[in-house]
Amino acid sequence: MAKQYRRIVVKVGTSTLTHPSGRTNIREMEHLVRVLSDIMNRGIQVALVTSGAIGVGVGKLGLPARPKDTPGKQACATVGQCELMYMYDKMFNEYSHKVGQLLITKEDVEDSQRRGNLVACFDRLFEMGVLPIINENDAVAVEEIVYGDNDSLSAIVARLIHADLLIILSDIDGLYDADPRTHPEARRIPRVTEITDELRRACTGAGSELGTGGMETKLRAAEIAGRDGIPTIVMNGTPPENIYQALEGADIGTIFERMGSNA
Ligand code: GLU
Repeated sequence: MAKQYRRIVVKVGTSTLTHPSGRTNIREMEHLVRVLSDIMNRGIQVALVTSGAIGVGVGKLGLPARPKDTPGKQACATVGQCELMYMYDKMFNEYSHKVGQLLITKEDVEDSQRRGNLVACFDRLFEMGVLPIINENDAVAVEEIVYGDNDSLSAIVARLIHADLLIILSDIDGLYDADPRTHPEARRIPRVTEITDELRRACTGAGSELGTGGMETKLRAAEIAGRDGIPTIVMNGTPPENIYQALEGADIGTIFERMGSNA
């Protein structure tokens, strides 16, 4: 029987939310918002970790490419974040859901007092029936832009709010035993219960393209969430109805659960 989830975190990335030009992918975004609204109507609490601030900023500012310098990226993030939240607010409103924005940095999580404030805010938002939408505060979190990633952030949020599931939406179907773009025979790995050195190498090692699909950060996220026993499902976010299947316990994507680690 499918597990009954109480509170989940869903992470969506820039590639889902934007066209290659950086302009918002309205169709994908609307579709995702509809599914998440329906899931909340079922009584499941959802927190959404969204990327896309820099990408959307680039599109909105009409820049030819993503800036390479940090202040340029920060500036794009401030513009894109407004646009993203404007769109989410408008779209979730259509289904009578309210959203709240939380822009956080590593310091907010590492400092115990600030972490406490953050957790209290999350708790109150859930009590009020508000959907928290989280991104890193890219305007000030310089190290985020240089090294950071929202996969890890989503796992940190999952731990902070004691979620019982983390879903990372990707543009590939899950973790494969070889790069599916270059190895047509590659097979999806449905379930991972231990992050072994071999797996780590497959996702990061030179010569493997898995890492370039962002698998390295997803593996790290699964590891972080796993420390509190929170399972992570990495799966294709297109179509977003895949989330229903994940909640029903169907064989979709790659589920990381009951994880040990030999690291
Ligand atoms: N925080 C960045 C943004 O919103 C994205 C980081 C990531 O893609 O993981 O643009």
